[in-house]
Amino acid sequence: MIEICTVGGYDEVGRNMTAIKVDNEVVILDMGVFMDKYIPFNNALEEGMSLNPNELIRAGAVPDINLISDWQKMVKAIVLSHGHLDHVAGIPYLADRFKAPLICTEYTAEVIKAIASDQKLKLSNRIKVLNPNSSIKLTNSIKIEFIQATHSIPQTVMIALHTKYGTIVYTNDFKFDNSPILGKKPNYERLRELGKQGVLAVFMDSIYSSDAKKTPSEAVAREMLKEVMLGTESEGKLVIVTTFSSHIARLKSAVEFGGLMKRKIIFLGRSLSKYIGAAENINLVDFSKKGEVVRFSSMIKSKLKEVEKKGRQKYLLIVTGHQGEPGSVLQKIISGKLGFRIGYEDLVIFSCTVIPTEINRKNREDLEKALRAKGVRIFRDLHVSGHGAREDERDLLNMLKPKYIIPSHGPREMVKGAAELAQEMGYDKDRIKFSHNGNRFKIG
Ligand SMILES: [Zn+2]
Repeated sequence: MIEICTVGGYDEVGRNMTAIKVDNEVVILDMGVFMDKYIPFNNALEEGMSLNPNELIRAGAVPDINLISDWQKMVKAIVLSHGHLDHVAGIPYLADRFKAPLICTEYTAEVIKAIASDQKLKLSNRIKVLNPNSSIKLTNSIKIEFIQATHSIPQTVMIALHTKYGTIVYTNDFKFDNSPILGKKPNYERLRELGKQGVLAVFMDSIYSSDAKKTPSEAVAREMLKEVMLGTESEGKLVIVTTFSSHIARLKSAVEFGGLMKRKIIFLGRSLSKYIGAAENINLVDFSKKGEVVRFSSMIKSKLKEVEKKGRQKYLLIVTGHQGEPGSVLQKIISGKLGFRIGYEDLVIFSCTVIPTEINRKNREDLEKALRAKGVRIFRDLHVSGHGAREDERDLLNMLKPKYIIPSHGPREMVKGAAELAQEMGYDKDRIKFSHNGNRFKIG
């Protein structure tokens, strides 16, 4: 018998964690943080304080692993889909409660190690690297398979759990991108094959299930970036690009266009240095050969002095601060904390959208206001999402033909479109399993 506990990420966008019990063996999928609740703690961490996991659980910043305390000794593996914080950043606080290895791709492993070392926490679980499009026998009755997916961070996979009761596929997070810029296309062939063999259930990333579209490829975001970086007058002006630090494909495009602009490229900021370092450790990119990566505030200050001296028009700065976060490089430049002036008609390119939370909206509004006051040219929203929308989800369901659909990656009101889609496709209501944090249900 298979029993599922949806531990976190079913009442919010964040702290994703799902536990699947197959007879008396349990596999945990993902262990992330909920950024809204985690940020205050993270700030404390930066001031040198240590964090108590129970406090994080109480605050709702990480999944409440106590919901599966009766399963604790049965856990055989913690399997991770990709390196985003809402999927892995709970690991350094919670994973040592389970005597089980972490199974993930090479890049995800590098990110987890970087997060742990950043937080000065020790990882006590063994890390077992599994490549996309390969599988391992976990126990006599469970096989774990990684299927190549596409998203907005390298080496994202869909996880298939093969059991004697059937196969469960976990797709948080995915889009179907046929020109992903970095890495391979999704493995459609394998998805179709699984569909033919029979899939018991799919956890479907349903965050944009109400959006009647197919999410555009990363190649579209690249064109948007190209249009601005190569197609607007920037001679004599400083150019600044900011985007998600973990979005290595996007950074790759920015670096390439920076090269074509014949500019010296400098990455500024701790999180950029962290994710680039992780990608360079496994030879995914070689940004430090094409530019310079500067991590710490003190060095950033002197580097910006050098930029000023040698001529700002010769540089492309890629910086942290796309959401206007206090303490980010962009925000510190604007507030004058780095002793560097951003001037009239300099270009600031936001290759991102504003993540719709109250804090982000306010931060970005303040940042843009300050930029406008200085006469800076602002380019917003040069971005496409890493999540599929309704028509990607339809393709997924047509390929996998699952018996049950478990809409995931957000609260009910955000993922409810999955039910409309499924009913449109002829699924009975009882085959769509909405869940909340802490719910348990059996399938088979
Ligand atoms: Zn993600």
